[in-house]
Amino acid sequence: MNAEIVAIGSELLLGQIVDTNSAWMAQRLADLGVNLFYKTVVGDNPDRMLEITNRAMERSDLVITSGGLGPTQDDLTREIVARAANRDLVMDPELLAQIEARFRSRGMIMTENNNRQAMIPEGAIPVTNPNGTAPSFIVEDPRAVVYCLPGVPFEMKWLFDNELVPYLRGKFGLSDSIYSRVLKISDLGESGVDDLVGHLIANSVNPTVGVLAHPGQVDVRITAKSASREEADELIAPLEEEVRELLGGHVFGVDNETLPQVLGKLLRSRGLTVASYEGLTGGVIAQQLQDAGEELFLQGTVGRQPGVLKSVLSAADESSLSLDRLMGDGAALADGLAAGVRAQTGAALGLAVHSVPEGAKPTENLNPGHTYISVSSAGGTWRRQYNFAGPGLPDRTRTALNALDLLRVTILQDRYRA
Ligand code: ATP
Repeated sequence: MNAEIVAIGSELLLGQIVDTNSAWMAQRLADLGVNLFYKTVVGDNPDRMLEITNRAMERSDLVITSGGLGPTQDDLTREIVARAANRDLVMDPELLAQIEARFRSRGMIMTENNNRQAMIPEGAIPVTNPNGTAPSFIVEDPRAVVYCLPGVPFEMKWLFDNELVPYLRGKFGLSDSIYSRVLKISDLGESGVDDLVGHLIANSVNPTVGVLAHPGQVDVRITAKSASREEADELIAPLEEEVRELLGGHVFGVDNETLPQVLGKLLRSRGLTVASYEGLTGGVIAQQLQDAGEELFLQGTVGRQPGVLKSVLSAADESSLSLDRLMGDGAALADGLAAGVRAQTGAALGLAVHSVPEGAKPTENLNPGHTYISVSSAGGTWRRQYNFAGPGLPDRTRTALNALDLLRVTILQDRYRA
């Protein structure tokens, strides 16, 4: 069965709202194992809506529309789908009664144009929408099944999960669903991951292995098609073990786990606290440490001016840590700043990130430069170094995740102990 989504609304074409409905539905359809071959956005124009609806019905078995079911003149989905399916638009008395009851229960006056919402193509199957007044309906045409959903995202999502999915299971006998396990990878780029697990990506069938890169993090997704979660888990387990073996300590979490969450758990389990210094990231690291655990995060210092650096360094109480001497040595400066924030606060772990961007006009992503990340602890100072440094959001995110990852590894490997 091949599906197609038609998102309706001129505001989508004007860029006033983003078509999040289609992306959400696409994910759900993929999880259900339904092939989605086309997504179209069309404005509230009758000719173009008719053209798109006809084309979709020609080439797809299932057409899901979203939007254009409201009470106003530019809500045309009902009329257009009726025309495409060669049917009259008729009043559904049950839908009308439901809409009237809804208005009555809220003490609102129902206007004439709300009647429009009880009109559906003749022979269509009405679907009650308990979250709004725009009802949904299904037209089973010889060319395709057309399932019309409202545009308001929470109404659409509810109807999709509670009405459309059960309908599809019954109508098209969907049995297999897609289940996946995502392994979250840190401190290794997409190509590094590919070097290690590329053969599994190329050779696995069910489950399959896929890689998705984000700044500072890579997801390895193992996806199985099966009739139940239990069966999928059995299919996924051996491959997951293989991937874990190949990627080792780079796997920091699974599924929806975030690095701050994982770090928070680690800090808490060992009774550790942390304090931080950062410059170019402008507070992103402090924010993530705050997310890791408010009670574990003693202080975050943010700032690139010499005064800030001097005051952090002076707390470390080491005569060699003069800013003038350290300015030419980024690694030593990061070490000194990490020692400084630890001394200032008494935290078990001091984290410092010192970035030196290069170039007059920094690029948004992977700007050349040097980033030094240091963790100071009773067990010594641990450092990582990278050859990018930029104020763009991807670089800030990447740097923050790398910094949190150094904390994670320092704790996991017990390197913080005296
Ligand atoms: P209702 O009558 O309940 O408003 P409707 O079917 O007429 O439903 P629209 O009028 O097309 O829906 O859209 C209502 C609102 O829903 C829009 O203003 C927008 O906020 C949101 N919306 C519509 N389509 C989408 C979409 N594809 N993605 C995200 N949001 C959407």
